[in-house]
Amino acid sequence: MPETHEHAAGDSVPELKQRIQELEDLLQACRLRLPNASEEAVRELAESEERFALAVRGTNDGIWDWDLKTDVVYYAPRFKQLLGYTDDEMKNLFSEFESRLHEEDRERILAALKAHVDQQAPYDAEYRLKCKDGVYRWFRARGSALRDATGHPYRMAGSITDITEQKASIRALAASEERFALAVRGTNDGIWDWDIRSGAVFFSPRWKSMVGYEEEEIDNNFSTFEKRLHPDDHDRVMATLNEYLNNQSPHYSVEFRFQHKDGSWRWILARGRALRDADGKPYRMAGSHTDVTERKHDEEELHQARHAAEAANSAKSVFLANMSHEIRTPMNGIIGMSELLLGTSLDSSQREYLEMLKQSADSLLELLNDILDFSKIEAGKVELDSHEFDLNTIVTETVQAMGVRAFQKRLVLLHHISPEIPARLIGDDGRLRQILINLVGNAIKFTHKGGVTIEVNVESETADLIMLHFKISDTGIGIAGNMHERIFEAFTQAEASTTRRYGGTGLGLAICRDLVDLMHGRIWVESQPDVGSTFHFTTAFGRTSGISIKPMSPRPEPSVTVPAAMKVLVVEDGHVNQLVSSRMLQKRGHLVTLASNGQEALDFFKSEPFDIILMDVQMPGMNGLEATAAIRVIEQDTGRHVPIVAMTANAMKGDRELCLAAGMDDYLAKPLRSAEVFQTIEKFSHSPQHSEGAQLSPTLLESVPPPQPPAGVAFDATAFRESAGDDKLMRKLIAIFPEDTQKYLRKAEKALATDKARPLYEAAHSLKGMLGIYAAPKALRLASELCEYAHAGDLKGAQFMFEQLKKECTLVGEALTSYDPVI
Ligand code: ADP
Repeated sequence: MPETHEHAAGDSVPELKQRIQELEDLLQACRLRLPNASEEAVRELAESEERFALAVRGTNDGIWDWDLKTDVVYYAPRFKQLLGYTDDEMKNLFSEFESRLHEEDRERILAALKAHVDQQAPYDAEYRLKCKDGVYRWFRARGSALRDATGHPYRMAGSITDITEQKASIRALAASEERFALAVRGTNDGIWDWDIRSGAVFFSPRWKSMVGYEEEEIDNNFSTFEKRLHPDDHDRVMATLNEYLNNQSPHYSVEFRFQHKDGSWRWILARGRALRDADGKPYRMAGSHTDVTERKHDEEELHQARHAAEAANSAKSVFLANMSHEIRTPMNGIIGMSELLLGTSLDSSQREYLEMLKQSADSLLELLNDILDFSKIEAGKVELDSHEFDLNTIVTETVQAMGVRAFQKRLVLLHHISPEIPARLIGDDGRLRQILINLVGNAIKFTHKGGVTIEVNVESETADLIMLHFKISDTGIGIAGNMHERIFEAFTQAEASTTRRYGGTGLGLAICRDLVDLMHGRIWVESQPDVGSTFHFTTAFGRTSGISIKPMSPRPEPSVTVPAAMKVLVVEDGHVNQLVSSRMLQKRGHLVTLASNGQEALDFFKSEPFDIILMDVQMPGMNGLEATAAIRVIEQDTGRHVPIVAMTANAMKGDRELCLAAGMDDYLAKPLRSAEVFQTIEKFSHSPQHSEGAQLSPTLLESVPPPQPPAGVAFDATAFRESAGDDKLMRKLIAIFPEDTQKYLRKAEKALATDKARPLYEAAHSLKGMLGIYAAPKALRLASELCEYAHAGDLKGAQFMFEQLKKECTLVGEALTSYDPVI
């Protein structure tokens, strides 16, 4: 009896000894009470008692022995202990037991005892007894009566076991089973429980009814499941199950078709978990079946609907793409013809109508192009055309293309490309240009004051790829927060009045978003109404392999050949710059004509031919850009093209682009440096129209780094001498310095007094141009800042700068006067 031993092992030795003692006492009592029994009977009794004693020894049971005649009950000390009493606290009477029986149990127990005594019914009963602390505990009692030779019972003995805990856990189990059953019923799932070793499977009634069977209709084994699997799903399900059982996957969850009794197929989702032995081998697995047929049908329908919608959308896009392409051809005819018509003699109302016609045709063509682009992208017909390109060129060309519009609205258009970006990249430059033109075009369109900047930085990079971050910021009308996402949708504009006020179709940003998507980037906007907007986008580009080819320098290599003399028109309002540039060119052997503003230049241009025009940009009256535009208009009739090179004091980044956009051919930064001037203008001398002139004196052209005047010095004598070229001119320049500076300072002062930013800017700009010649670093910097304040319209800041500049000019004047160039 291993259990007995196990139990005994749990008890302490004194306790066991006590129990043995009790049993021996009991045995003795039995013997004493059986004087008439035969030897045999006594021995038998002794043996049975011994077995009994052995049986109870290991248990925690309490023993009782009831003398039916006297009603005395011997309660073993353990019995009393189970009820919480010491030996002497409970008398050895039947009433002591009966009175402690629970009200609800008493009748039943008394009857059971009687049935055993009278009719030998087995006595095995459960009841509650009240303990010393007043709490009822559950006991299981077993016992049997001893009978004399005539079969008359005279004594009954047995034991009680405390089953309170057992009862509680059974109750808890029942409750949890009930909850479980309820939950399962609630989910409507079928339950299965598979004994892997025997192959037997319990299928719940719901499991069976799900596939149309009654409880008894199918066998409780694994093949019941397996043979109903759809042949196309069978192998997959078995593989999933085996993977799970072999610990190759953490979950068992699989969907399959399962055959209903009526032959139809239901979609079932099966999930389960296995129990594993100590070696991890599964021995039992249980789980559920959920009928997901409806969901599957819905999914299928949804899938088909989406497919149909996509097909329809793509058909629409293809149609739109084809249509807009087709319409473009006659549109080009309309536009071309109206252009031709406009070139003929028309009366004023005819011209007006025709211009309106052409304008409408232009915007219609723009719309067609947008639709064509958008629908091509939507129809998945756009593929990127990647190749090596130069980012700087793309950005610069965009700025050039947009420069005219910005210039017309008097907006500043600046750009900055981070030097970390490699010169050459691989990607679709055409699509990049399209995005930039769209965003910069919008920025200019929606801005009335201030300017637009384009910035390009590195977002992230790997060995092969580089992600660039473009930022296009404006100081325009801005966009309300609720529209920041929506404006990227097709045909959406921020306000209902947008088309009327600004034109457009709301397609541009949708196209940009699609293109950016194609280029593995994203696009978003940050904006505040009345403050401005910043459009951001990122795009990935490839790196070039091997040695990257640097973009060709637009400037020819320094040349030692001797160019022919050229007829040069220098347009410049500053006295100092007039002197310097004409002297520089004359020394080289060129023929110089001076004009001091745009109008004068135009008059000269009309009256005689020039090989090249050097044009200052900022001039009072007609400025350099306007003069250039006027010249280009006149040239439309002659078909000729005179090279015009801008000279500006590099007021703002983007000036160069503005100049090019206005029709100029090249650009020189002030202060002029002879090597650069010669290189730039002489590359145009190959043009066939230049006049035959004298041979120029050979001057070796060298690239001189820009002068870096030492800090803290009013002017840099060496650099000054270099820009002047000779001592004679230097003396002359020193002589005119006070008068010239005073002229511009007075102009600036007057502008400040009358709150006029424009003339202030012009004066500051002129000062800047001349101070460069004198190589006066601090004065030059102050003039530059004054320019910027004036340009930004910040007259307070400008006033402050002006005072500083005025003082510095006096210092420069003094330093110049005390300088003796003859040394
Ligand atoms: P369109 O310019 O042809 O209307 P877009 O798709 O390019 O179409 O732009 C959608 C709308 O987003 C514009 O109509 C305008 O309301 C708003 N928007 C775009 N760019 C700007 C900007 N820089 N500043 C203010 N609003 C802008």
